[in-house]
Amino acid sequence: MREKSFDLFCPKCNILVETEVIANGSGGFRSDAVNPIDEIDAEYHGEIYYISLCIRCKQPFMIRKSLYGILGEFESITDETVLYPTGSKLPIEDLPPMASSAYEQALKSFSASLYEPCVLMCRKSLEVVCETLNAKGSSLYGRLESLKKNGHIDQRLLNWAHQIRAIGNEAAHNIEPEIHKEDARDALDLTEAILIYIFSLTRRFESFKSRRNEKNKN
Ligand SMILES: [Zn+2]
Repeated sequence: MREKSFDLFCPKCNILVETEVIANGSGGFRSDAVNPIDEIDAEYHGEIYYISLCIRCKQPFMIRKSLYGILGEFESITDETVLYPTGSKLPIEDLPPMASSAYEQALKSFSASLYEPCVLMCRKSLEVVCETLNAKGSSLYGRLESLKKNGHIDQRLLNWAHQIRAIGNEAAHNIEPEIHKEDARDALDLTEAILIYIFSLTRRFESFKSRRNEKNKN
């Protein structure tokens, strides 16, 4: 059965949206059978391609679904990949590579509706922030507190960070964590805000300040 819609992360709307399929087609099928006569019982592999549009802004998407199965018995999806738009483009600059990688994985998990890995990677982004800023403490709780003590973040950002830490802990330690889409989305946005504040804006402020100083010297 072909899909009629996909829930995807729309980079234009910057939220998870419903996208409506406007076209689909088979990318062909391959059989594992050595002899053509065995094909009926052998596993086959194939791809189906979909073009869909964001129902809010009409942003186009191309999705590849990889399938395998045995004719008339079962069919499973092995992979679902968004081929276009490619990956997640970070709207944030000057991130250390490790923070960028953790945050991108959180984004990717979210767009694949994997909310547990999403909040885990949000929490990891905070770990990277602490590491980068040499935060001291035996737990993430303590290291986040030390970020505030050393003036890297204010109370509000600290509160956000603690909430991300808490939901990350829930995902890591509960056997059946219930991480809802809305919570994962919020964790993602708050993580992004923290990264922008600590890395992107701080760097921009420094260059702004030095430009102003240069100008005032002349
Ligand atoms: Zn959109």
